[in-house]
Amino acid sequence: VLHNMVLDLRGNIRVFARVRPPISNEDDKMACGWSFIDETTLEIVSNEPVAGGRKQLRYDFSFDHVFNPNTTQDEIFEIVSPLIQSALDGYNICIFAYGQTGSGKTFTMDGVEGKLGIIPRTVKLLFDSINSSKILGWNYSITASFLEIYNEVLYDLLSNEDKDIEIRMANAKSKTEIYVSNITQTEVNTAAMLYELMAIARSNRATASTIGNERSSRSHAVTRLEIVGTHPSRPERLVGFINLVDLAGSESPKTSQRMEETKNINRSLSELSNVILALVQKNEHVPYRNSKLTHLLMPCLGGNSKTLMFVNVSPFQENFIESVKSLRFAAQVN
Ligand code: ADP
Ligand code: MG
Repeated sequence: VLHNMVLDLRGNIRVFARVRPPISNEDDKMACGWSFIDETTLEIVSNEPVAGGRKQLRYDFSFDHVFNPNTTQDEIFEIVSPLIQSALDGYNICIFAYGQTGSGKTFTMDGVEGKLGIIPRTVKLLFDSINSSKILGWNYSITASFLEIYNEVLYDLLSNEDKDIEIRMANAKSKTEIYVSNITQTEVNTAAMLYELMAIARSNRATASTIGNERSSRSHAVTRLEIVGTHPSRPERLVGFINLVDLAGSESPKTSQRMEETKNINRSLSELSNVILALVQKNEHVPYRNSKLTHLLMPCLGGNSKTLMFVNVSPFQENFIESVKSLRFAAQVN
């Protein structure tokens, strides 16, 4: 199967920035001065009023693509879809949403009713593509699992049982192939079935979050789809993974949080940047095993895999410092 791979042009790591619009109850907040210079460059200016005038701080950042607050979910997915298609050709894909809490990560990944995000659109696209490739003799199966990583512990979002979930080596000879023990893996035959599982996973995550304070903004949610394609004229199966990751909020934890927790929460995010930086710099050693998230994604980061990171940012002055931090992080990865 040959697809037009727009994202294949330069390297395998892409970074997109997306600034969200203000929402209805935020009318009173003052926005930063945002300029979208072109499709790849944005400028952020703080307009903080100080005694006797305004304090201005101005920063410029460049990305593979910049989305302004008017960008629709349709437009986003148009750019993302070739990447999803390539999973049907056996590529491993990771798409991350990075940013502080409230910046639009979940909106980008899940979306809301009537403005669906990347995950539900991915599901639809996959099943549509699978159906049309049947004429060409392809037969695909999709297996889904949903994980949450909180405080360096993995949770199965499709099960309420208390199970020990570990990342294990699949094969002693191959150092890159891992599997996850005790995780619920469900083969899905229709988009509707996958939507149902997504709803269960989402509600389990929400439940866990009311028990542990702020857990959902402090945990990573990973939607994992394994796609296996077979064709009668091909001896080998095509296997591709899609990992869609709604990351923990990138803001610094409040000091009231326990030290151990703070350290672990920061760990997966900082290790993710270490891994991506090592890949960008083509370092010989990539420190995948330093956190659960990067270990889980080891076969899907680097090598022949394709990675896309959204850096989501809030439009507001009060979030200026966190926005600059997020953009700076993402720009160095770019
Ligand atoms: P996060 O997951 O990063 O904490 P959310 O995705 O929950 O942030 O976004 C915060 C709020 O802003 C939500 O009410 C969400 O629906 C809304 N929102 C985020 N991005 C957009 C957007 N691009 N267009 C419209 N509303 C958005
Ligand atoms: Mg969220």
